[in-house]
Amino acid sequence: KLSERLQRVADFLGKGTKFADIGSDHAYLPCYVCKRDSEASAIAGELNEGPFESARSTVLENGLQERIDVRHGDGLSVISPGEVKEVVIAGMGGTLISTILEAGKEKLAGVEKIIAQPNVDARSTRKWLVDHGYSIEDEAILKEKGHIYEIISAVKTDGKCTLTEKEALFGPILSKERPQPFIEKWQGELQNLERVLIQMEQAAEKDEKKMDRFRQEKDWMKEVLS
Ligand code: SAM
Repeated sequence: KLSERLQRVADFLGKGTKFADIGSDHAYLPCYVCKRDSEASAIAGELNEGPFESARSTVLENGLQERIDVRHGDGLSVISPGEVKEVVIAGMGGTLISTILEAGKEKLAGVEKIIAQPNVDARSTRKWLVDHGYSIEDEAILKEKGHIYEIISAVKTDGKCTLTEKEALFGPILSKERPQPFIEKWQGELQNLERVLIQMEQAAEKDEKKMDRFRQEKDWMKEVLS
């Protein structure tokens, strides 16, 4: 059975879409999508040999080799411009996701939607998306097996997109809706930050700039939790 995390990622894909799943690992996501949507097709990209072989096996076991093309390569290098309408990058750090998007941005021609599920540092991913003409249209947050996961769905727009620092940190949609896992996440982050700030204040050499930034973030967390 597919994890709730990946099911929620799949729910953001359009019907009958051709998409790429970058860093697909076992290709569980594209197999799940193609089994429930007969019009969907996918490219599963994997950098590493082991997961690439696992992806090929899963696709073969499900008899989906006509609709899911498993490709070996780094990030977006496995797709050609215009080949897919949507791109999923899930289960990695937000900074790695932005690095992959940046390195392959010329491959994003024709990509109407990017669905990102950063495990940490979603801020970096949100900033990249908005700086490159993708507007955050929806977000989700869920808790599974003790971990809290954020999902960001962004669509290509002609106009200029903007995001405040605060929205980049908390998510423009999540910070409005404030669902239970969001509250739990930021209560935990606030506690961590308060601990870090105490340590920084006691340190012999103080990084005042960083401390100011953290104090600002601490105030934002209190605001968003109030
Ligand atoms: N996307 C799946 C998920 O969300 O469950 C798998 C997540 S797994 C933790 C990350 C996968 O990304 C690994 O299989 C890893 O080999 C792959 N990966 C890491 N860097 C990559 C890159 N630059 N290009 C393609 N795949 C990459």
